[in-house]
Amino acid sequence: MTGINSNILADRKKSIVYKSGCKGDGITCDTESVTGSVSQRACVFCGARVVLNPITDAFHIVHGPIGCASYTWDIRGSLSSGDELYRNSFSTDLSETDIVFGGEKKLAAAIDEVMKHYSPNVIFVYATCIVGVIGDDINAVCKTAEQKHNIRVIPVLSPGFAGHKSMGYKAACNAIMSLVSPYKSEQKVDGINILGDFNLAGEMWIIQNYLKQIGVNVVSRITGDASFDNIIKAPTANLNIVQCAGSMTYLAKRMEEEMDIPFIKVSFFGIEDTTDSIMRIAYALGNDACIRKAKEFTKQQSSKLKTFLDKYKPNLEGKKAAIFVGGGFKAISLIRQFKELKIETVVVGTQTGKKEDYEIIKSLVNENTIVLDDTNPSELEQFMLAMSADILVGGVKERPLAYKLGIAFCDHNHERKQPLLGYEGVINFTKEINLTINSPVWRYT
Ligand code: SF4
Repeated sequence: MTGINSNILADRKKSIVYKSGCKGDGITCDTESVTGSVSQRACVFCGARVVLNPITDAFHIVHGPIGCASYTWDIRGSLSSGDELYRNSFSTDLSETDIVFGGEKKLAAAIDEVMKHYSPNVIFVYATCIVGVIGDDINAVCKTAEQKHNIRVIPVLSPGFAGHKSMGYKAACNAIMSLVSPYKSEQKVDGINILGDFNLAGEMWIIQNYLKQIGVNVVSRITGDASFDNIIKAPTANLNIVQCAGSMTYLAKRMEEEMDIPFIKVSFFGIEDTTDSIMRIAYALGNDACIRKAKEFTKQQSSKLKTFLDKYKPNLEGKKAAIFVGGGFKAISLIRQFKELKIETVVVGTQTGKKEDYEIIKSLVNENTIVLDDTNPSELEQFMLAMSADILVGGVKERPLAYKLGIAFCDHNHERKQPLLGYEGVINFTKEINLTINSPVWRYT
């Protein structure tokens, strides 16, 4: 990194490493963002909202100024097979007077109004920054509303300033536990819960279809295409699979401790990880018929894709990729996917990766690959240029950085409209990477 780290804030240097220079305790991660570094991370409230929002028939009341509600309104491309209520955004629209005199009455009135016009089974109430500052007791308001209306009204303690996105994930997991705990059951059914897939562009349905092909029953979806009636069945499953480990490992651990449901982490991005995940689910269930079907299914799907990939490899071989995504599991799968396409990952980072994620990342990348945790736009730009990246994979906040530098971009975040998951996703991903990386437009920038 010598020569390219002169603009890096001193406190940020421990969160940026390159493999051959990474000694001692390794990368500093899973900590608060450095003050003044303009982190790419989202706030606590956003973390909670993006996890709970795909529950299709729930009401989400954002207790705070209108800006918080608009910030997270419909930001996921989560699809529904039923209700569309989740695509609305409800806010108590707190103003100066409420901030001086308190917003509890307004919140109680908002819940009453919802109940007058609709009949939901569950309402989530999110505490935002200002609610944390003025100290509204949303627990008490929710409890009173539950008794008054005889439905679940669950407080989500997520003031934005209280930490970062990961804390919001935890708040969302606690809210889900509060929802499912009354349905705890000793009696298990033969089936699994899918945790941490949000049905972006129908990806949950792709996973469900794979599981159907190998004879595995899905009990509950948390939270892609979920509904109240479906989610409360979760305690009866005999296995949890965790796709987005960053947001859902905490829930999986609590369900293991409190409901006796073991879990395994999976990733359905890329051929290698999709095949590996399907096989591990089959082995975890220990069902011979299922293992046999999984072997046949994955073999058939992988060999179909080999011919497809061989066609694209000559266009992509030798290109260099930069990756900046939310969680570690996705970064790991992307490095493997790029390897399969003969593309070298030269910069890789995450918003909320853990030490163990970075250890795996380190084992997969080349000696000089830059690995960064919780980066900011200035660092990303600097490293993409220094490492001559041809493409950046990220989300909506990273897109302008790539285009400004004349570098190709692939959106792998929750706004996207086409699935990148599973074997189908490999086809979409490869085509998109090929189109953007080889676009003639980059010659004119
Ligand atoms: S940081 Fe605070 S004010 Fe901003 S969106 Fe998050 S909760 Fe709302």
